[in-house]
Amino acid sequence: MEPSHIGLGPGREFDLVRAMLARWHELARAIGDDAAVLDIPSGERLVVSTDASVEGVHFRREWLTLREFGYRATAAALSDLAAMAAAPRGMLIALTIPEASLAEVEELADGIGDAARITGTPIVGGDVTRGRQLAVTVTVLGSTASPTRRDAVAPGDIIYVTGVLGGPSAALRALEQGETLEPLVRERFARPRPRLQEAQWLAQHGVRALIDISDGLASELQHLAVASSVELRIDADRIPVMRGCSWSDAAHGGEEYELVVASAQSLDVDAFARAFALPLSEIGRARRTEIPAVIAHRAGSAERVDLGVGHDHFSS
Ligand SMILES: [Mg+2]
Repeated sequence: MEPSHIGLGPGREFDLVRAMLARWHELARAIGDDAAVLDIPSGERLVVSTDASVEGVHFRREWLTLREFGYRATAAALSDLAAMAAAPRGMLIALTIPEASLAEVEELADGIGDAARITGTPIVGGDVTRGRQLAVTVTVLGSTASPTRRDAVAPGDIIYVTGVLGGPSAALRALEQGETLEPLVRERFARPRPRLQEAQWLAQHGVRALIDISDGLASELQHLAVASSVELRIDADRIPVMRGCSWSDAAHGGEEYELVVASAQSLDVDAFARAFALPLSEIGRARRTEIPAVIAHRAGSAERVDLGVGHDHFSS
């Protein structure tokens, strides 16, 4: 057991940290020394990723509460550990807070705490700074003996996807048009679940290649195809579409945080669904190729379906 927090000195920055620690209680561990010291099970490797969420870029106050923003920023970072099938061991939270938002830091902390609690990830450190725009940068630390990589897809692999897609994209479109969201669609948008347990189940069942859907299914399939030098043949009709959402929402929408899976063996989708109350859908196959590509077809049709490209943070 790690010692509890070390006492913090005086000052406004430490007042903010104290305010957050008071919200987090046991979710934060051993904060207050110069750096955190973590244990990793023997034989496992450290898996690290960082993700920034900025007000006005990743979040608008009309769309999400600050608590939801804190949750989402943290869940998005943790999803990258899921994509490596790593068990979460800790996370560091770096906040940039405008003067006007200082009073809201507890609401933000509650959202970060929600994600920590749901995923069992201790908050082991961070940083607070003043700035013009509210930003949350979450660095996640995980470990695994066998990370699942995006360059590990082999010809013949079966391609699956977890969950049902389209909710976050449909939500975004409705919000931009000033419409009210259906509760389930809003839930998928505001409270995405990093698929950490699901990823570990998949790795235990022989899966060696995973990627999480942050920029859209089509975009992640392209990443897999290029990284692994394979062609991915996708059955467009088997892409799981959330009720009330369009096929295009499901194929192109970002911020799903579901997993795309490549498996040499056929997976027991019923056992997966029973374990997680979540569908696992077969959507295609990987083939040997000279030129990496993603090719989608409708059932019974030779005509190709353009999967297009996903969200690119730097495109206008
Ligand atoms: Mg990712």
